[in-house]
Amino acid sequence: MTRVARRVLIRGVVQGVGFRPLVFRAAAKFDIRGWVCNGAAGVEIHAEGRQADLEAFLQRLRERPPPAARIAEFVVKSTLCRDYPNFQILASQAGADPSVRISPDLAVCEHCLQELRDPGNRRFGYPYINCTNCGPRYSIIRGLPYDRARTTLADWTLCAQCRQEYSDPLDRRYHAQPIGCFDCGPTYELLVGAQRIGDVAAALKRTAELLNAGAIVAIKGIGGYHLACDARNASAVNSLRTRKFRKEKPFAVMVRTLDEARRIAALTPAHMALLGGVGRPIVLAPRQFDLPGVAPDSDHFGVMLPYTPLHELLFDAGAPTASVLTSANRSNEPIAYRDDDARQRLAGIADAFLIGQRPIARRVDDAVATVRLGKPLAVRRGRGDAPGAVCQLPTEQSILALGSDLKNSLALVVRGQVFVSQQIGDLDDAEAETAFKETVDDLLAMYELRPERLVIAHDLHPQFRSTRFALSLPCTARVAVQHHEAHLASVLAEHGLFEQTVVGVAFDGTGYGRDGAIWGGEFFVGGLPSGFQRAAWLRPVLIPGGDAAARFPVQAAAGYLADCTDLPDLHAAPFDFPPRFAAALSMVRREVRCFRTTSMGRLFDAVAALLGFTREVSFEGQAAIWLESQARKSAPQQPYPLENLDHRPLLQAVIRDRLNGRPIAEIAAAVHAGIGRATAATAQKLCTQRRLKQVVLSGGVFQNEILFADVHRQLTERGLQVLSNSVVPVNDGGISLGQAAMAGCTPSALP
Ligand code: ZN
Ligand code: ZN
Ligand code: FE
Repeated sequence: MTRVARRVLIRGVVQGVGFRPLVFRAAAKFDIRGWVCNGAAGVEIHAEGRQADLEAFLQRLRERPPPAARIAEFVVKSTLCRDYPNFQILASQAGADPSVRISPDLAVCEHCLQELRDPGNRRFGYPYINCTNCGPRYSIIRGLPYDRARTTLADWTLCAQCRQEYSDPLDRRYHAQPIGCFDCGPTYELLVGAQRIGDVAAALKRTAELLNAGAIVAIKGIGGYHLACDARNASAVNSLRTRKFRKEKPFAVMVRTLDEARRIAALTPAHMALLGGVGRPIVLAPRQFDLPGVAPDSDHFGVMLPYTPLHELLFDAGAPTASVLTSANRSNEPIAYRDDDARQRLAGIADAFLIGQRPIARRVDDAVATVRLGKPLAVRRGRGDAPGAVCQLPTEQSILALGSDLKNSLALVVRGQVFVSQQIGDLDDAEAETAFKETVDDLLAMYELRPERLVIAHDLHPQFRSTRFALSLPCTARVAVQHHEAHLASVLAEHGLFEQTVVGVAFDGTGYGRDGAIWGGEFFVGGLPSGFQRAAWLRPVLIPGGDAAARFPVQAAAGYLADCTDLPDLHAAPFDFPPRFAAALSMVRREVRCFRTTSMGRLFDAVAALLGFTREVSFEGQAAIWLESQARKSAPQQPYPLENLDHRPLLQAVIRDRLNGRPIAEIAAAVHAGIGRATAATAQKLCTQRRLKQVVLSGGVFQNEILFADVHRQLTERGLQVLSNSVVPVNDGGISLGQAAMAGCTPSALP
C-alpha cells in the first residue's frame, strides 16, 4: 500500500489550546504516522499515511479544531515519505520566527467545573483547576514558546499524578501548562486583620461571610486584584467609593448565573453570547433593577459571569449572588497585581485579602464589551481578548504603534498580523506611564523584536507622553498620525478596506489637529492608500483652561456660549451655573489661556451644563452619558437646527426651550436629533460630491447609542454603507490600531 506524506503548518491562536493532543488523537484514529510540534511559526505536522486517510485526517483538523483555537492559516504541502514507525508529539522548539499568536486567558470550562464540584475528584474545591481547553495564558506567560518552564508556574514541581496527566497525550490535561493540584500546586489563603486562614475551603467560607456582612475584600484574580463587596448593600458600595476615591464611575457586577444577570439587566441573545463566551468580558447592558450607588447617572450596568474556579467556589460558599468586582486600585491608577504592592496600596481600602499564590506575569484588566446593532463592540480590551490579533495588514514591516495618551493601548504588527494589547490607562498617571513602558518591553520581548528594526507610529500631539517616548526610541522610522485620521483608519483596517476611498466622521473630545488646534467634530474624505483630507468640521470656538475644560461642563459651555448673542443670566434659575462659568466666560472674551477647538464632545458637555449638569465630572464622558440617558426618557422630538455645523442656533433653541420650561428629556432628545440630522446630511453631501458610497464613523462620541443608531439609519436609508469599529473600541483604545494601519498602508504617512 503506497503511503504519501504532507507537511502542515497551522498558524493563528494554536498554541496552549490543546492542538497537539487533538492532532495526536486524530493521527491514531486515521492511522497516520509522523509527528506534531509547536514550532516558532505555529503548529507543525509531518503526516504520512494512505491518501484517503490523510485527507480525512486533515479534514478532521480543519473542521473540528480545539474550542479555544482560532486558525488564521492552514497550509498543506507535499513532502517526502520518511517511513516513521509511529506518531509522536515532539518537544517545543524555540525559533527565529516569532509570529505565533499568544492565547488570551480562557474562562474555566464545563468539564473542569464538574470535577471542581465532584467530592470524589482529587481536585474537588481546588481553586486553580484547569485543563488543556481552559485556564490562564497571557497572564502567566513569561516567554515563548508557551511551555510550563516559561510561565509563572515554573517553580511548582508537578506531583506524580499531575505529571502523568501532563505527559499523557490522551489525557485532557496533556501539556496543560498551568496544571496543578492540592498536592503540588499553588493555592489561596485569606488574610483578615492579624489572622491567616490557610485552608482554602475555610478561607472561602470566611470571605463569603465577610462580603455578606458588608466588608470589602481584595481578591486576586487572573490579571490583577479585584475589590469585591455586596452589590445590594448600598452602604458597602458607598464605602468602597469613598475608600477608592471613585465618586461616581460605574462599578462592574459579577453575578452567579445568567438568570441573575437577566434579573438586573435587559439582555438580548447577543449580550448573552458575549457574557457566556470564552472571553467572559464585562458586558454593558440596559439596567432594569436598581442597585443603589453601583452606576449612578447611567441607565446601563456592566455585568459579568464568573470566569475562574475561585469565583465559582466563592459563590458556592455563599458569596452575594451579585457582587461588585472592580479593579483594585485608587481612582485612575492601574490595577494592582503583585501581592506585596497590592497589600500596601490597598491597605486602607480592603478589610481582608484573598491571596492566590500563583504569580501574575502582567496586569490585565477585565475586557469590557457591549452590543451594537446586534453585534459585539469592544469598549475596553483586556483579560479575555488581549493580546489577540485583531486583523491582518498587507505589510511585511514590523510596526509598533503607541496609541493615544488617554485609554492607552499598544498595537504590534508582525508579518502583517496586528496584535492589540490590553488597555493600559491614562498616561498622565505616573504608574500608568510605567505600565505603558513595561508593556512595550513585554510585547517586544515576546515577539523577539528590537526597536531598531521597527517603524514606530505615534500621535501627532507633541506634548503626549507616548510621543515623547516614541522620540526616545531608536527605530527605522517614526510616523506621526493625526488622532482622528487614526480613528477612521482603525475602522478601515478592521474591515480590510485597504483600497477604498470613504467619507469619515470622527467625533470625540480632543485630538491634536494638523493646524495645531484641538479637533473633535471632523469630516474627512480619504482612505488608507492616500491618507485623509479634512472636508468639514464643527464651527470652531475658544474654550478656556487646558485639562479642566474636559472636567467642567460649564467651562465648555462658556466657550460655546461666548459665541452666541443675547444670553440670559445663566447664573440664575433654571440654569444656576456656578461662579466658574463667569470666570471662564471672561477668559474667552479676553482670549486668555484658551484653545481653539471643534470638539463635538465639548458641545455635548455644553448642552449637559445647560440642562443641569453643572458640577465637575468625576470620570471622562460622564456629562455626555448623563445627557444620553436623559434623551432616552423622551419620545422622539423634532431636531434642533445645526445647519452647516453651526452650533449657535442649536444652543439658542436649548436656552429658549429651557426658559420656557420644556422638559429636560425632550430637549436632550431634540439635541441628539439635531446633531444626528446634521451629521448624516453632511456625510451624505460629501458622498454625493465625491461619488462615494461608504461612510466610516469612529471616535469616542460614537459610544453614544442614540446618535450612532440615528446616523446609521439615515445614511443606510439613503443607500450608503456605514462602517464602524467592533474588535477595537471607537474610543481612544482603538487609536493604536489606526496608527499601525496608517504606518503600514499609507505611503504618504511615512517620512
Ligand atoms: Zn478545563
Ligand atoms: Zn499535583
Ligand atoms: Fe479620540
